Amino acid sequence: MKNIAVIGAGTMGNGIAHVFAQNGFKVALIDVSKDALERAKTTISKNLDRQIAKGILSEDGKLKTLANLDIFTDMEKGASTADLVVEAATENKELKLKIFSQLDLICNDKAILASNTSSISITQIAAATKRADKVIGMHFMNPVPVMKLVEVIRGYSTSSETTAAIVELTKTIGKVPVEANDYPGFVANRILMPMINEAIETLYHGVAGVEEIDTIMKLGMAHPMGPLHLADFIGLDTCLSILRVLYDGLGNPKYAPCPLLVNMVESGNLGVKTGSGFYTYDAASKEKKVSAYFLR
Ligand code: NAD
Repeated sequence: MKNIAVIGAGTMGNGIAHVFAQNGFKVALIDVSKDALERAKTTISKNLDRQIAKGILSEDGKLKTLANLDIFTDMEKGASTADLVVEAATENKELKLKIFSQLDLICNDKAILASNTSSISITQIAAATKRADKVIGMHFMNPVPVMKLVEVIRGYSTSSETTAAIVELTKTIGKVPVEANDYPGFVANRILMPMINEAIETLYHGVAGVEEIDTIMKLGMAHPMGPLHLADFIGLDTCLSILRVLYDGLGNPKYAPCPLLVNMVESGNLGVKTGSGFYTYDAASKEKKVSAYFLR
């Protein structure tokens, strides 16, 4: 595989493009939003500078990485020569089904189509194509340039050849692949999202404030970041979508999203990406400022 197309240039897409480009692949980063593509280029450049400051990348490495990267708003132009497409568009089932049915027409027959979905069924996504054996989940973690894990999700029809190719490719880009079967939320979010939802319920019921909940989980459980801060970082809209997939797919009321989470998403307080969630964030550095949540 040489040519990679990444669909969606948001939180995850820019990181996925960064990692493939840094490892010598030609990357086409595709988004419907020109602004998202411009923001992604700025973010990638800043993140490469961080790697230089840490001494893990040279100036030349940065230039080579950027030279491997092209941006497109036209999916056909960007994806038609891809050996692998990694879709990282918004977590919405109808949108992903549409993208995969289009990719199936645009891409060459041998291309593998992967989704970075956090929770949506790979089997269902694959059924929107005529190459279900070549559709797979490639679930990167946030922030992609830093986090080692890729959860590799095998849909009902994904072939062993496709799985083996993705496992090998994941190792080539310096990540650790771990296989999981295709059930709602796979492994990572089936365990993580109920914890985040419970932290929001704890806040909603007035048991403690934002800072207290996060500090207790950080210092008490040795988590690098508290669950409310992590939810802001993931995106509250993404958390809500994942919880709805778990709730619908497993039919268990324990996955019902907290009404506070629903209100925050409906009011546009999505976390880091909008500058306000459980905390407020500095627009440039994305550093957490203060707790923004008040029980109304
Ligand atoms: P995001 O909201 O930051 O970005 C989504 C991007 O998709 C936007 O730039 C949007 O313009 C673009 N988009 C929407 N429709 C499109 C289309 N038809 N064609 C091309 N681009 C389109 O979302 P994100 O957090 O990057 O999440 C992307 C995917 O990654 C989701 O499936 C999510 O579940 C998954 N994921 C997210 C995280 C996380 O921590 N945020 C972690 C792992 C996986």
